[in-house]
Amino acid sequence: MARIFRRSILWLVPVVVIPLGALLVVQYRFLRTLQSKTVSAQRSWLRDSAEVIAGDIDRYYRTAAQRALTIERSCLCEKAVLGAHFRAAPVEGARTFFVVHFDGPHADYAYFSPDGTEKTLPPDEEQAVKLATVSWHVAHKMKRAIPHPPMSVDERDDRHRILMRPVVDGAEHVFGVAGVILDQGLAHAAMLALGTRSIARHYAEDAAYLRVCVGEHLQGVDFGTHPLSFVFTNWRLGLRDLCLTPEELGALGFKNNMLLGGGVMIVLFGAIGLAIQSAARQMKLSQMKSDFVSNVSHELRTPLASIRVFGEYMRLGRVASDEKVREYGGYIEAESRRLTQLINNILDFSKIESAEKKYKMAEADLTALVQETVSAFAMPLRDSGVVVTFHPPDVPLPPFTVDKDALAQVLNNLLDNAGKYSNGNKVIDVSLAADEKSVRIAVRDRGIGIPPPEQKKIFDKFYRVGSGLVHDVKGSGLGLAIVAHVVKAHGGQVDVKSAPGQGSTFTIVLPKSSVTEPHPAPPLGSNSREAV
Ligand code: ADP
Repeated sequence: MARIFRRSILWLVPVVVIPLGALLVVQYRFLRTLQSKTVSAQRSWLRDSAEVIAGDIDRYYRTAAQRALTIERSCLCEKAVLGAHFRAAPVEGARTFFVVHFDGPHADYAYFSPDGTEKTLPPDEEQAVKLATVSWHVAHKMKRAIPHPPMSVDERDDRHRILMRPVVDGAEHVFGVAGVILDQGLAHAAMLALGTRSIARHYAEDAAYLRVCVGEHLQGVDFGTHPLSFVFTNWRLGLRDLCLTPEELGALGFKNNMLLGGGVMIVLFGAIGLAIQSAARQMKLSQMKSDFVSNVSHELRTPLASIRVFGEYMRLGRVASDEKVREYGGYIEAESRRLTQLINNILDFSKIESAEKKYKMAEADLTALVQETVSAFAMPLRDSGVVVTFHPPDVPLPPFTVDKDALAQVLNNLLDNAGKYSNGNKVIDVSLAADEKSVRIAVRDRGIGIPPPEQKKIFDKFYRVGSGLVHDVKGSGLGLAIVAHVVKAHGGQVDVKSAPGQGSTFTIVLPKSSVTEPHPAPPLGSNSREAV
C-alpha cells in the first residue's frame, strides 16, 4: 500500500509540479514585460500631463495678454485711464506695461508698473521696446490696414520678453501698440503657481505627489516634459512624481505581483502537502483497520478454539483427575475472560465512535473498586505465574463519583497490557495514592517497555507499536484509546513512563473534586494527547 501511495505521489511531479513551475516561469516573463510597459506608460502619462499643464499656462498668457492689451485708440493718450486699465487687467510675471502712440514720424512712449503707476525704463529695456514696435510704426506710416490686430511675441532678448498688440482705429489703421514686458524671475514663479493650480484642477487625487517645474534645461530623467508654445518658447514645463520614478513604479508592481504569485504558489503547495498528509493518514488508518480486523479475528478464534477443545475433553470424560478438571476449567475461565474483555472493548469502541457512550456516575469506594478488579484479574492467572500486587493508600479515601464499570474496564485494559507485554517478567504492581488535589492509580510492569516516540501514539485508535516483540502479541489497538476516553470523561489524564526493556508505568490521575457529570471526551484517536 505504501508503494502504491509513493507511486501516486510521484505522479504529482509531472501532473502538478511541472505545470506549476511552467506557470511560474510564464508569469515571471509576463511580469517583466508588464514592468517595462508600466515604466513607459508612466513616462507617457507624465508627458501627457505636462502637455495639459503647459497648455493651461500658454492659454493663461494668451488670454491675460489679450485682456490687458486690448485698448481703444481714443485712450492712447489718457495715461490715467491706461494706468487704471493695466492695474485692473494684470498679467502674472509682468514687469512693465507700455503704450506707444504713433503720430506720423513721431512715437510717444508711456511705461507703467503692474500697479498702474507711470515709470521710466532703463535704456536697454527701452531699446528693446523700440526695437519690438518699430515694424508697427512702419505699418502706421504706410497706413496699412490690419483687419484683426494680432497678438505678437518678441523674444529676441531673453531678459525682456515682450507681448504686444497694435491699437487700430475704425478703419483698421495702426495708431499705436500696447505691450507688456515679462520678467524671467517673476514669470518663472508665476508659472510654477499656475502649474500647481492646474495640477489641482486636473489631477486632484495625485496633486500631493506631483511637482511642476519650468526652465530651459530640466535636470533628471524622471520628468515628463513639454515645451511652452506661446511665450518663453525655449522653456519646457516638467512634471515629476515625488513618490516614485517610473522605474520605481514598474519595479514595485513587479515585486508586488511576484510576491502575490509566490504567496499563491506557497499556499497551493501547502494545500497539496496537506492533502498528501491527509491521504497518507487515511491510508495508514485504513491499514490499521485491516490489521485490526485480522488481529480481532485471531483474538476471537484462539480463545474460542481453546474453550471448545477443553470443553470437548471434559464432555468426553477424557479428563480423569480433579486436578486436570480444575486446570482445564481455569483455562476456559481465563479464555472467556479474555473474550469478554475483547468484546467489551469492541462494543465500547463502537459506542464511543458513534458518540453513544454514556457514563453512569455514582459515588464509589475507589480502594474497594481497584482491589476487587485487581483480584478478579489476578485470580485466574495465578497459576500462569502472573503476580499482581496491590498497594492501597496510606489513609482511607473519601468516596469518589465515578462510573464503576468504565473505571474497572480501564484498569482491566492496563492490567491486560501489563500481562501481555511482560516478556516473561509477570510481576505487576498496582498502587492507589492520593494527595490534596488528585488521586493516582498506577499500573507498573517490568515488560518490554515503549520507545519514547511511540508513547504519544499508543493512545490512538488501532495504533500498535510496530516492533517485532509487540507483533508476537495479538491485540486490537483499542485498549488504550478506550482508557484515554474514559479517563478524559472523568476529568482526568493518563501519564505513561516507560523505557524499552525496563517496563512501563501507566498512571491514571483523577481530580479529587468529585465528578458528578461526565466530562466531554474527544473522539477516539484525535491526536489531542496533551488533554489525555
Ligand atoms: P493492544 O490491543 O494492541 O494491546 P492497546 O491500545 O491496549 O492495544 O495498546 C496499544 C499499543 O501500546 C500496544 O499494541 C503496545 O504496542 C503498546 N503497549 C500498551 N501497553 C503496553 C505495556 N504495558 N508495555 C508495552 N507496550 C504496551
